[in-house]
Amino acid sequence: PPAIQIRDLVKRYAPTGKAPGKLALDGVSFDVPQGQIFGLLGPNGAGKSTLINTLAGLVMKSSGHVEIWGHDIDRHPRNAKASIGIVPQEIVFDPFFTPVEVLDIQAGLYGVPKAQRRSMDLLRAVHLADKADAYARSLSGGMKRRLLVAKAMVHSPPVLVLDEPTAGVDVELRRQLWELVVKLNREEGVTVVLTTHYLEEAEELCDRIAIINHGKLITNKPTRELVDMA
Ligand code: ADP
Ligand code: ADP
Repeated sequence: PPAIQIRDLVKRYAPTGKAPGKLALDGVSFDVPQGQIFGLLGPNGAGKSTLINTLAGLVMKSSGHVEIWGHDIDRHPRNAKASIGIVPQEIVFDPFFTPVEVLDIQAGLYGVPKAQRRSMDLLRAVHLADKADAYARSLSGGMKRRLLVAKAMVHSPPVLVLDEPTAGVDVELRRQLWELVVKLNREEGVTVVLTTHYLEEAEELCDRIAIINHGKLITNKPTRELVDMA
């Protein structure tokens, strides 16, 4: 099966006061093939975060069908959740924990047995081994972003989803994050989905690009075909 299958996905947020409920996803269907780096491209407000948050179980869809690694998110939410790692936009960990503690706590939340925990391996993979015992608050912005990637990988999910990984990030850190994503894909066989509003980023990194606008999928093509058209 595809890594992710999305069919007729609709999300209408609840109305607030006099404002009608926003139709953030308006019947979206696509597959993410296994083993690829898949880019979801679109301007602010297009619906990218809503889609990612639906995959993460943080947003309740209004209708439609989503499978992650063959697991229906409604019927088999635990298996679906175990199959995916999410790298959020915001930096979310306790500033007074160390990277090793952040990863050990996350492994505990996911029920990873102690013997199978690989916090130090993960920190090495994201070039943070020398910071294993520093307070998270002392890490640079780039180090924190890389720690978020390691945190998303503690339960060894086959699919990694990154929400605007390089938004507001300087050129050097962008390069670092790109290299990390490519390494996880090529060396560990992780299927990657990332959202971005930079066409350049999607072209550089992704095997396939889907473009979303106003909650609708506009294009979904191999990157080469898309670039040839432009
Ligand atoms: P993107 O990530 O592409 O910028 P979002 O998924 O964040 O887009 O937003 C899509 C649309 O849904 C926007 O119009 C946004 O204002 C609206 N929206 C997002 N989250 C909520 C929410 N919690 N309640 C109501 N409207 C929302
Ligand atoms: P982005 O587009 O970068 O994903 P947004 O500014 O759209 O970020 O959303 C940031 C947060 O605010 C999200 O948690 C989203 O759900 C919420 N949000 C966005 N638009 C609305 C809205 N119209 N009403 C309520 N919450 C919203």
